[in-house]
Amino acid sequence: MQNYSVGVIDFRGDVKEAVRRAVKLIDWACPSNESILIKPNMINSKTSEEGVTTDPSIVSALVEIAKGFGCKVYVGDSPGNAHPGKAREVFLLTGMLKAIEESGAEFLEFEREPPKVVRINGAIIKSIGLASCIFQHRIINVPKLKTHMQTLMTGAIKNLAFGCIPGSGKGMLHRIGITHNRMAKAMVDVYSAIRPLVSLNVMDAIVCMDGNGPTGGNPLRVNKILASNDALALDMASFKMAGIEPLKVPYIREASQRGLGPKSFDEIDLLGDPLVEVKFEMPSTFVSRVSSLAGYFTPMVTASPRIITERCTGCGNCAEACPAGAIELNGMARIDKSKCIKCYVCHEVCEFDAVGVKKGYFEIIDRWVF
Ligand code: SF4
Ligand code: SF4
Repeated sequence: MQNYSVGVIDFRGDVKEAVRRAVKLIDWACPSNESILIKPNMINSKTSEEGVTTDPSIVSALVEIAKGFGCKVYVGDSPGNAHPGKAREVFLLTGMLKAIEESGAEFLEFEREPPKVVRINGAIIKSIGLASCIFQHRIINVPKLKTHMQTLMTGAIKNLAFGCIPGSGKGMLHRIGITHNRMAKAMVDVYSAIRPLVSLNVMDAIVCMDGNGPTGGNPLRVNKILASNDALALDMASFKMAGIEPLKVPYIREASQRGLGPKSFDEIDLLGDPLVEVKFEMPSTFVSRVSSLAGYFTPMVTASPRIITERCTGCGNCAEACPAGAIELNGMARIDKSKCIKCYVCHEVCEFDAVGVKKGYFEIIDRWVF
């Protein structure tokens, strides 16, 4: 049986030292002259302190560690609704570009080259276009621990499965994944193609996000760094810390059943500080057993996105990103409910907090029943 370990560091103060200790706990090393790609979560231009993007200090620390092994280091990602130039803007506004330049790494934009189409013998996905650059390096995956309105939680696996699809290709996954069950299968299909490229996973659990994540929830200071050689093990430990039974998260269960990591939380060796639970508030789209069950069958009865007209600037980001073409722009955004597949991408990409969530029947029943 393979050994899965997760290093946990509970710290106050020096982020770089915490990262070094976490990586040391799991004995990570890489051959000199290896080319390393650090892949943070840079979904939009909200900062790490707002609980949205990966903390630049963690990336700086990892650049130093990898360079210490004699590696050449690149840092890159594909933000939500990305087009050429968007990643540089996001990296600049979040302070990530400065951190990369100061630590001696190179910035890589996933949209720079056409995607590489890979064949997958997946449950749903048979081929997908992934960022070409990920195949030229070993990946250090640096997710942010957050709740997620469509997948319940986001961490290591989701940072790879969605974040390595450049440009508007992510919309395809949203269109396919209209139920929790289908989303889980599609995400794990994509993850299975990326998993062999990953060398190390480090979770940014310094300022996390709960509530309606991954961009519009509440920042939650947790002050932890977790590291693992395996993305599923890291997600299981991190979600457990957030008060969620890992196998209740649909894509975690799917990945585990397919043997892409530990079969259960008990197979993980926890090293370092104790994994003390920090209660996360769940997204209003995933309230309890009733709404989770509803998600298996139909998105019709779960919470809907709504435009908060006083905040909408008419920038058009949501309309551009909507995988169902359900948003019209006429000075401000308007959602055509008959086309909406409730993927909440509009909520995710709106940088003006102008997309709210209206509870559906199942969320209301939840309140009465549980
Ligand atoms: S809802 Fe947000 S993203 Fe959409 S047009 Fe309005 S401000 Fe822009
Ligand atoms: S309107 Fe929003 S929730 Fe509905 S399909 Fe478009 S992006 Fe998804």
